[in-house]
Amino acid sequence: MTADASPLVDPFGRSVDYLRLSVTDRCDLRCVYCMSEEMEFLPRSEILAIEELERVARSFVSLGVRKIRITGGEPLVRQGVLKLLDSLGQLPGLDELVMTTNGAQLGRYAERIRAAGVRRLNISLDSLDPERFHRITRTGRLHRVLDGIEAARDAGFDRLRLNVIAMRGRNDDEIPDLVEFATHRGLDISFIEEMPMGALDGHDRGEAFMSSDEVRAEVERTHPLARAEPKALGGPSRDYRVAGSNTRVGFISPHSHNFCASCNRVRVTVDGMLMPCLGREQATDLRPVLRDYGDDPEPLHMAIQAGIQRKPESHVFDASALSGAQVVRFMSVTGG
Ligand code: SAM
Ligand code: SF4
Repeated sequence: MTADASPLVDPFGRSVDYLRLSVTDRCDLRCVYCMSEEMEFLPRSEILAIEELERVARSFVSLGVRKIRITGGEPLVRQGVLKLLDSLGQLPGLDELVMTTNGAQLGRYAERIRAAGVRRLNISLDSLDPERFHRITRTGRLHRVLDGIEAARDAGFDRLRLNVIAMRGRNDDEIPDLVEFATHRGLDISFIEEMPMGALDGHDRGEAFMSSDEVRAEVERTHPLARAEPKALGGPSRDYRVAGSNTRVGFISPHSHNFCASCNRVRVTVDGMLMPCLGREQATDLRPVLRDYGDDPEPLHMAIQAGIQRKPESHVFDASALSGAQVVRFMSVTGG
């Protein structure tokens, strides 16, 4: 059997058919849970060119990946990202091209991204209060994200989903309002437990941490939830439906409800590291393979397959020691 025909199966029998591809470690925001105020970004020579990112995506698809999420950092600050989307949108064998964005530039790009073939977007939104939003993102302007959400609604994506990190003392009192915002507009919404990725300043993860169960109880005070069909939002989310609406509410709980047994995904960072698990440091460097072997796909296929064999059984976050960084990499580097 050639590498082209082999599905990607890890040592624990899980098939990998989902790639999260980071196209930049840079961002126009500085969310307190994701980045420190002063960040050092990768030098240009270390980041993959658009053409190299395209080759990575092609190889994964020829090895059986069916869904690619473009992420970052903020994907829309990467020069050439539209060209990449245009080519991935045409890639035979790729069933789903999706993207995670902070939404700040969607006003400008939503239509263009949809036209490229991106079918669904996740848009991060942690507060509906302009000042608070600015505090959480350190630099962001809420109205730009709200305009971006409207532009995305007009552009006709199959589905839009808001991603919220619920944080005690920062936005916990807005949980019902955020669900109402989503319900009103026919959007889905997911609440994500904060993970200990990267050493932060000005934000104490231990203090801010809210478990999904706490968030769900808060949602249910105003919006009764019914269990949704499994995998409605895909991935590790446990999904519910807001009674009487089309809106799904998902809870992503890396701490409180481990989802590793069904993990079907890997990540590639913008400097070419294949990360088989978000919560571990194992990585396989694809960049030298990309640069040393030119257009020959075979060495890259072999490196990817070797990387998949390093996928650990599960992540190890210690919820009782959240204030430190248990994983050195920032989320903006790994790609959310
Ligand atoms: N910039 C884009 C955005 O914010 O949507 C895409 C990249 S961002 C790293 C992807 C997702 O990761 C966002 O929804 C963000 O809220 C989430 N995220 C960032 N840091 C996190 C952390 N420490 N724990 C859990 N989720 C985090
Ligand atoms: Fe940027 Fe997204 Fe990280 Fe916020 S969560 S700093 S928008 S990469």
